[in-house]
Amino acid sequence: MLLLNVFRWLWNSVFLETPGSNILVEDLLRVARRPEVVEAMRRFFDEADRDIAAQPATCWNRAECCHFGSFGHRLYVTALEVSYYLALGELPPRVADDSCPHARDGKCHARERRPLGCRVFYCDPAAEDWQGPMTERRLARLRAMHEELGVPYFYVDWLVVLRAINRYGNDKTAS
Ligand code: SF4
Repeated sequence: MLLLNVFRWLWNSVFLETPGSNILVEDLLRVARRPEVVEAMRRFFDEADRDIAAQPATCWNRAECCHFGSFGHRLYVTALEVSYYLALGELPPRVADDSCPHARDGKCHARERRPLGCRVFYCDPAAEDWQGPMTERRLARLRAMHEELGVPYFYVDWLVVLRAINRYGNDKTAS
């Protein structure tokens, strides 16, 4: 059974970035139901938010950077961030275009459970010096947390993950 799970996660991490590939949402939801995982991630984000708030940069929260296509960048997330996101709220709205479905009316509607990249990224030039090193440092910590908590690691495009969760929700509704 263990070998089978390892194989499934390996398969997942290799093929996940292919649009239409099958992310194991059921496994992520199982992780999301573990209180020690949720608590560890809450502490992780509290600490990250404190660090970020101490840096010189301003976010005007217009959610422009959440429209990935027009802004010209991507957001990548880890398995633990996705599990925390699932633990704190409903399944996401449908991904209709190359934008995060939580970006509406110029605002993020998932602020409490948004991934690390959403918190660290600022378009303010004042963030140029610190956001790269901070992202590296926090991602290294996240990677270690996957090992500590026994959660298989991946690092995948946010929209690929959200589409997989949408598909999972639709399949559940249909069955
Ligand atoms: S979760 Fe919020 S901050 Fe992150 S991409 Fe979506 S709308 Fe933007």
